[in-house]
Amino acid sequence: MNIHEYQAKELIKKYKVRIQEGIVAETPDEAVTAAKKLQESTGTGWFVVKAQIHAGGRGKGGGVKLAKSLDEVRTISEQIIGMQLITHQTGPEGKLVNKVLIAEDVYYPGEHEPKEYYLGILLDRDTSQNVIMASTEGGMDIEEVAEKTPEKIIKEWIDPTLGLQGFQARKIAFALGLSGGAFKEMVKFIYSLYSAYEGSDASLFEINPVLKTSDEKILAVDAKVNLDDNALYRQKELAEMRDISEEEPLEVEASNAGLNYVKLDGNVGCMVNGAGLAMATMDIIKLSGGEPANFLDVGGGANAQTVEAGFRIILKDPNVKAILINIFGGIVRCDRVAEGVVEAYKNIGEINVPIIVRLQGTNAEEGAKIIEESGLKVTSAILLKDAANKVKEVMANTVGA
Ligand code: GDP
Ligand code: MN
Repeated sequence: MNIHEYQAKELIKKYKVRIQEGIVAETPDEAVTAAKKLQESTGTGWFVVKAQIHAGGRGKGGGVKLAKSLDEVRTISEQIIGMQLITHQTGPEGKLVNKVLIAEDVYYPGEHEPKEYYLGILLDRDTSQNVIMASTEGGMDIEEVAEKTPEKIIKEWIDPTLGLQGFQARKIAFALGLSGGAFKEMVKFIYSLYSAYEGSDASLFEINPVLKTSDEKILAVDAKVNLDDNALYRQKELAEMRDISEEEPLEVEASNAGLNYVKLDGNVGCMVNGAGLAMATMDIIKLSGGEPANFLDVGGGANAQTVEAGFRIILKDPNVKAILINIFGGIVRCDRVAEGVVEAYKNIGEINVPIIVRLQGTNAEEGAKIIEESGLKVTSAILLKDAANKVKEVMANTVGA
């Protein structure tokens, strides 16, 4: 689960990570009130207005702007709230901005130049350990740094039985070229951030930039946090931070129905049991000249209800021109699934896209029979090759039509 920047900052602040202070607002009026409050508590006269969406690259897309007065806070908030913000992570349609974070300006001039760093913590599945990544090239596109100058990214793996060791935090701070007070602050920052990461059952923390201010304070200017969905049952407070309006509506509906669904851009909908088979099915669709419209794993215990829910979700995607149902009957019996398909077909009413059903495994023949005898416009295939050919035929007809 993703959370907004303002929520991520609240989270890490509880673990004593220093942050760029801010107050969230939903209207320009609230934004001005927030700025006034911030002025009282921090003494700042300049502010940054930051669009709150679940995507990075907001700065480049025009979603982060400096305001040098309360009037500017108002006019900039008027521009940003309600805008459709496009960044490299939102897709071409962008994302609607419902909230802004009014934050104190922390790039004020002083004895030293402010300097941006990058800090990330994530689970490295190859080593089964958390890894802390750090770089002096903060603020910019870290993906680009990783690609062009990977030597500029420092990595420190954390042994889960030992936890983060003092020498490791010092090693990172040293490698970032820090000394004196800033060095000590960075060590503390890394420590607190790591305990926030562990304490919140996160799978990703990305603080870009971490800022060394002109008076040598170390603080988080941005915070991207990804929480492990499987741990949300014991993170009730964090689970409440979920913002459904940021999620793909069909994915929300699918997760409510207990289905594992990811929307894609293609035109062949697929309904499969098992993630591995779902991936293989997407490959087959591609080989037949189609593009998968989704990933959908109905799970090992698929029944008539899940099949129907899956159908409804696939059909809500207007791009879908054909549906391939590929079920391997192991625990689930093919005749049950076939009944589910027939039932769903009847309940949903008019279905105008061709459906190819491939059932294999337990009771496959019975399943195929049920479908054939139902009189529905469903094409049945038992072999994967047949299914692929039928998808090809159907797509050729649709594209040609
Ligand atoms: P992102 O673009 O979505 O990653 O959003 P960030 O929160 O990282 O903000 C983008 C950029 O805005 C940062 O890299 C900074 O350069 C700039 N920025 C953020 N806060 C301040 C601030 O307090 N003052 C100034 N002058 N710039 C800021
Ligand atoms: Mn950032």
